[in-house]
Amino acid sequence: MIRLGIYGYGNLGRGIEKAVKLNPDMEIAAVFTRRDPSSVQVACGAPVVSASQVAEWKDKIDVMIICGGSATDLPQQTPELAKLFNVIDSFDTHARIPEHFANVDAAARANGTLGMISVGWDPGLFSLNRAYANAILPNGKDYTFWGKGVSQGHSDAVRRIKGVKNAKQYTIPKEEALAAVRSGSNPELTTRQKHLRECFVVLQEGADAAYVENEIKTMPNYFSDYDTIVHFISEEEFVRDHSGIAHGGFVIRSGSTGDKTHVIEYSLKLDSNPEFTSSVLVAYARASYRLHAEGKTGCLTVFDVAPSYLSPLSGEELRAHML
Ligand code: NDP
Repeated sequence: MIRLGIYGYGNLGRGIEKAVKLNPDMEIAAVFTRRDPSSVQVACGAPVVSASQVAEWKDKIDVMIICGGSATDLPQQTPELAKLFNVIDSFDTHARIPEHFANVDAAARANGTLGMISVGWDPGLFSLNRAYANAILPNGKDYTFWGKGVSQGHSDAVRRIKGVKNAKQYTIPKEEALAAVRSGSNPELTTRQKHLRECFVVLQEGADAAYVENEIKTMPNYFSDYDTIVHFISEEEFVRDHSGIAHGGFVIRSGSTGDKTHVIEYSLKLDSNPEFTSSVLVAYARASYRLHAEGKTGCLTVFDVAPSYLSPLSGEELRAHML
């Protein structure tokens, strides 16, 4: 039995509980939180432990799945916990991955542990598909489309505007852009041509809708480079229609081998972004356990893990049924 720890109990933490239920070779040994443990009710029945006592669990956990936020939690939590445990996280600030990798690698090497970072779908499964497609079609062009799905960062940005009570932002790939890419014509697409942004906003009483709409549409980095649609809705509609956290997207590479064109496409359609991400984390936690048992230490990413390490099936079963 692989003994997992969940470090941080938010959306991903809850998703790990669900994923582990579907994997009989794993169990959750404990859930760690920075909050008062008595205030955190977990579904799996494992003990809830204060993060300050995590060192006491050093020999009782095979892989610690770190479920903190990418912005400020993971850059600190993952290298720190790698001193004690094999660790895995879903760090998704793409520009800072090299720095995060170096920090986790140093901590893990010094302590004989194994770290895996940026495991999820993007980064994660999308990254793998970009790497495969580039190796196979060196003469080509990459396209990544996100959505339809909720962008937490953009939703937060809208909620910070004066007069906004609640808001959700969906990123939507434009059908005409997808069609052009799938045709293999290698189009040059601008940001505006690839994605549409749609916002559903609940206003505070007396707020100025025209002001809010203008603030959204002209917000630099977030909205000004996109076509953005803003809907003002009631609190009831918001709760009824916009409580989900669906996401997904497409990774496409089209390329040629001389006069022949080829298109590789990988897509995900996720009812719940965190539940799916947690399922990816759990499969890679199995790989982490196995690789560490073989003596591997330091930091890895999805690029370094062979598929057979993810599967509960033996090599023989994989060759007989999946090849
Ligand atoms: P959450 O905001 O739900 O949780 C983050 C942390 O916040 C938790 O670990 C928890 O720590 C704390 N927390 C959660 N709920 C509460 C609460 N009610 N009150 C106070 N603190 C709370 O984030 P998610 O789980 O949704 O996502 C975590 C990260 O995963 C994201 O930042 C994102 O970057 C990454 N991600 C990566 C993906 C990928 O494909 N690579 C895909 C999806 C997400 P504690 O228990 O210690 O308080």
